[in-house]
Amino acid sequence: MNIEATISSLLKGDRTSLARAITLIESNLEKHQILADEILSACLSKSGNSIRIAVTGVPGVGKSTFIESFGKYLTNKGKKVAVLAIDPSSEKTKGSILGDKTRMNDLAIDDLAFIRPSPSAGTLGGVAKKTRETILLCEAAGYEIILIETVGVGQSETLVHSMVDFFLLLLLAGAGDELQGIKRGIMEMGDCILINKSDGDNLIPAKKAKQQFKNALHMLSASESGWTPKVETISALEGTNMDWLWDTICEFENWHKQRGFFEEKRKGQDQFWFHQLIKNKILDKFYQSNKSEIEQLEKDIEKGKITASKALQQLMK
Ligand code: GDP
Repeated sequence: MNIEATISSLLKGDRTSLARAITLIESNLEKHQILADEILSACLSKSGNSIRIAVTGVPGVGKSTFIESFGKYLTNKGKKVAVLAIDPSSEKTKGSILGDKTRMNDLAIDDLAFIRPSPSAGTLGGVAKKTRETILLCEAAGYEIILIETVGVGQSETLVHSMVDFFLLLLLAGAGDELQGIKRGIMEMGDCILINKSDGDNLIPAKKAKQQFKNALHMLSASESGWTPKVETISALEGTNMDWLWDTICEFENWHKQRGFFEEKRKGQDQFWFHQLIKNKILDKFYQSNKSEIEQLEKDIEKGKITASKALQQLMK
């Protein structure tokens, strides 16, 4: 591969070069990593110019339907949209989210959209690193809105929260306890809550749920920036309230930029990632260089010869 040529056409927005560069990022081969780093370095100064949006919610809530609908809404406005995914189950299922592109038929063939399924191998931390680097490449290729899909199971939200500007939570109006199954921590991360499938017979329960969520959000502590999370009903299927959502995202961006929070948050995220990378590297190195001792101690612990904390003490020596 001619790296210079790949970089230059990626920066002009060429999708094939972008896809190729992402494949290098996703590869675990050292020679690919070196090329990936070279591309990333060349792209860094051209990245950052987008709004990064997390789209999360339990399976079945309508994330793909929503991304298709909102994505088309944005491309109709002439915006370039990239769709990425973080899949905490990817190790087992080899990447279930976005794996099936047919779920986004129209967006998949849209010239202004770029869809990339979740990298399928590795730990959640590793997948997150690749996704974060992929965001930078998409931005360098001129994508203005990055949608990152993740399944609402807890772990992945925290990671995705540390790489986006705007956190979108999709919920359903359910019978009974509206807050059922939604961890408070995830609610607290939301900059906007959308009650999906607000159509047909579901419209009235959805409006009721909207009020309940608004009340519940009042009880949470306000964010540092002073932004109050917005709640609205939508139908991803019918495409309702997409105008409202886009206005809200723009308002959010302006609000945070005017007050300096936008840049500050991104800088904080960069620091966070730097330290994540250090920790990952050190852990890897430590495990590699103490492999046989660790394996021996594991056996000793299993046989009840030594406690875990004693084993640690021995290892530290
Ligand atoms: P995901 O697992 O969160 O990605 O959910 P999907 O987008 O695959 O949607 C799950 C199911 O809900 C599909 O059968 C969709 O057609 C349906 N669905 C999604 N959004 C809506 C909506 O706004 N209204 C209705 N009535 N059904 C929807």
